[in-house]
Amino acid sequence: MIEPIRDQFRRPLRDLRISVTDRCNFRCTYCMPAEIFNERYQFLPRAQILTFEEITRLTRLIVRLGAVKLRITGGEPLVREELETLIAMLRPIDGVDDLTLTTNGFLLPQKAQSLREAGLNRITVSLDSLDDAVFRRLNGNRSSVEKVLQGITAARQAGLAPIKINCVVQRGVNDHTIVDLARWAKDEGYIIRFIEYMDVGTMNGWRLDDVVPAREIVERIHAVLPLEPIERNYRSEVALRYRYQDGAGEIGLIASVTMPFCGACSRLRLSPEGELFTCLFATQGTDLRAPLRAGASDEELETIIRGIWADRTDRYSEVRAAQTTPRDHKVEMYHIGG
Ligand code: SF4
Repeated sequence: MIEPIRDQFRRPLRDLRISVTDRCNFRCTYCMPAEIFNERYQFLPRAQILTFEEITRLTRLIVRLGAVKLRITGGEPLVREELETLIAMLRPIDGVDDLTLTTNGFLLPQKAQSLREAGLNRITVSLDSLDDAVFRRLNGNRSSVEKVLQGITAARQAGLAPIKINCVVQRGVNDHTIVDLARWAKDEGYIIRFIEYMDVGTMNGWRLDDVVPAREIVERIHAVLPLEPIERNYRSEVALRYRYQDGAGEIGLIASVTMPFCGACSRLRLSPEGELFTCLFATQGTDLRAPLRAGASDEELETIIRGIWADRTDRYSEVRAAQTTPRDHKVEMYHIGG
């Protein structure tokens, strides 16, 4: 096994999140509000986006430095054409233990089978509510709940497993529907992760008052479907785990605001245009596309990547609460995929 490189806090590089596009077919209010990302919004031109060959080359180098888990994200990764081709290029990379993808599920009926055949192991689908009106308000009225449920069913029929469901909980928006979502996921056998609403990017008007703490989410579900805490699967796993006392499944809590997990954070992020980000809340990334397209050797690129991680001191969520002035410039989530 490769000895991973470590940052200033001795955190090993273990996870690479690859954002393959800045585009999305939804307009979720906490990520890509429709009033800003309208028909006049200029997304990245094709020429500025890394090709599958470039993504694969950089991924191979980052895996050589310790990454074992790859997560494909966006924007919405399934809007990138022929994504299965990239999956088939990444799958054989020596050292990759886990290859997964986060999607809004809308295109899964068309894509699930080919992604599975290309080598995708498992999948995470975002679904913030089963209440159609609430869901439509959250995604910019771009999809019904039914459409996403069809996508999840297609993923299951294609043999992608486990299937995890992500739900961002906002007070006064969808928090009144989380128990229904938990019950549905329990009955269907999906692992649902409830995510505390975060101040990602600069466009969602985040307020601490709108956050429902993980503790409260657990209390609400426990009152109806009794839960008990269980150990994380591995140290840098982001989710706190709870299983149902009746043994029928588990849920996860991603509590970046009230119980930050920066201490074990092992995630590096690659943006669509080839910038490396060392934190979800980073203010800037490091451009790899320029040296890559200027003919840099693997050794030269590896030296750059090694230096980026070695200098890493990010722990935004741990210092968020102590910050007197909010960080007014942060990379947008749709750009580096949550
Ligand atoms: S805030 Fe940054 S350092 Fe902390 S867990 Fe999230 S990505 Fe990692």
